[in-house]
Amino acid sequence: MPSVLLAPPRSHAAPPKPAGVRGALAALGEAMRRHRRTIQALQWAVVGIYLMLLVVPVLLPLPPRTAHLWNNATLAAAFAFWGLWWPFVLLSMVLIGRTWCGVFCPEGTLTEAVSRRSLNRALPHWLTWRGWPFTAFVCTTVYGQMVSVYQYPAPALLVLGGSTVAAMAVGLMYGRNKRVWCRYLCPVSGVFALLAKLAPVHFQVDTAAWEASRQAPRPPAINCAPLVPIRTMQGASACHMCGRCSSYRGAIALAPRSPQHEVVNVAGTRANAWETALILFGLMGVAVGAFHWSASPWFVDAKQAVADALVNAGVIWPLAQSAPWWLLTDYPGQNDVLTLLDGAMLLLYIAATAIVCGGALSAMLAASVRAAGAWSWPRFHHLAQALIPMAGCGVFLGLSAMTVTMLHAEGLEWPQGVAVARALLLAGAVLWCGWLGWDIAGRWTGGARRVAVAAGTTVAAAASGFCWVLLFWIW
Ligand code: SF4
Repeated sequence: MPSVLLAPPRSHAAPPKPAGVRGALAALGEAMRRHRRTIQALQWAVVGIYLMLLVVPVLLPLPPRTAHLWNNATLAAAFAFWGLWWPFVLLSMVLIGRTWCGVFCPEGTLTEAVSRRSLNRALPHWLTWRGWPFTAFVCTTVYGQMVSVYQYPAPALLVLGGSTVAAMAVGLMYGRNKRVWCRYLCPVSGVFALLAKLAPVHFQVDTAAWEASRQAPRPPAINCAPLVPIRTMQGASACHMCGRCSSYRGAIALAPRSPQHEVVNVAGTRANAWETALILFGLMGVAVGAFHWSASPWFVDAKQAVADALVNAGVIWPLAQSAPWWLLTDYPGQNDVLTLLDGAMLLLYIAATAIVCGGALSAMLAASVRAAGAWSWPRFHHLAQALIPMAGCGVFLGLSAMTVTMLHAEGLEWPQGVAVARALLLAGAVLWCGWLGWDIAGRWTGGARRVAVAAGTTVAAAASGFCWVLLFWIW
C-alpha cells in the first residue's frame, strides 16, 4: 500500500516550529485558530457594546453645555466612537493588518452570522463592481459632514446603523457563511485594504509546502469568510486576519515581514485605477476637504462672496432655508443649523479640495513616472501606492483631532505634546513615502532616474502633508 494512504488525514498539519519572533507569531496564529469560540465570544461582546453606543444616546436628550464625558452617556459614546474607536482602528491596520475586521468588527460579525441562513444567491455583477470602495467611502464621508455625524447621535445611528442593516441584508441574500458585504461593499474596506499593505505581519502562504501537501489526502476546506483566494494570497490587503486558515496544509502561518514588502513587491501587479482614485482623490482629497471646511477661512470667504451675490440679486431663501436633520445639520436648540447655502458650499468646498489636491498629486506622480522613463499607467498606479503612509497619516490626524478637541473641552490639554506628535507623524509619513518611492523606482530604473522618482514621491507626500499643516498650524 502506498505510504500516502497510511498517512493520517490532516486538516491542519503541524508546521515545522520556527523560532524567535517568527515562532511566536506562528503560535499566535495557531492560538487564533484553536480558540475560535473565545474569538466569537469577543465578537459578540463588541456587537453588544457597539449597539449600546449607537442606540442609547439617541434615547437621551442632547447634552447640555455643562455636561462632561464622565457624566453624560451621549458625550461618552461620541468620544468612544469617534475619539477612540475610529482613529485607533485605522492605526491598528498599519500595525496588525485587518485584525479589527476578522476579530472585532461588529458589522462583520453580524453579516457573517446572518449569512448562515443566507438565500445564497449568485453574486450580481453590480455588487462586485471594483468602484464600490471609492464610491462608498466618498459618499459616507460627504454625507457624514452634511449631517454632522461626529457631533450628534441620530446621524451616527443613521450612518452606522444604516450600514449595519445593509450588511445584514447582503448577508441574508448572498454567500452562505461568508462576508460578501465586507469583501465588496463596506465603505471603509478599501481604506483598510490599503493601510493593511503596510502591516509588518500577515498570514503567509508557503506555496512549496502547499504543493507538497497535495500528496496527502485533501483536508477539509477552510471557510474564509471574506472570500480570499487563500492558495494564491500574497499580502495582507484582503485578509481579515481571522486565523482560521493557520497551518492549513502545513503551509500557512502568521509571520513577520517588511512593512515595505507588499507595496513594493505585490501592489504593482494588482494596483488599479479605483485604488489610485481612493488614495489620491479620496483619502488625500475628499477626506482633507471634509476635515478642512469648518476651519477654513477660504470656505468662509467663498460663502460670504456667494451670500453677497445672492442678496444683491434679491435671492434670500438659500440663506434662510434649512433642511431636515437627515439631510443637513438642523439643531436650532444647539444653535447649529446649516442653511441650504451652507450645504451647497460644503459640497462645493469638498469637491474643489478633492479636485485640486487629487489633480496636483496626480501631476506630481505622473512627472515622477515620466522621470523613470517611458510613460506607463501600471507604473503610475504602483507609484500612487507609495503615498499610502501619508494618506493614512492624514486621516488618522483628522480623526484624532476629534479626540484632542473632546479632551481639550474637559480641560485635558497637552498643546506642545500634541503639536510635536503631529509634526513627527507627518515628517515620518513623508519620509516613508519617499522610501517607498525609492524602492518602487528600484524595480524600474537606477541612478539619477531612481533619485528623481523618489524625490517626486517625497514632494507629493510633503504637498499633501502641507494640507494638514494648514489645518493644525496656520488656520
Ligand atoms: S485568508 Fe481568510 S481564513 Fe485565512 S486568516 Fe485571512 S481571512 Fe482568515
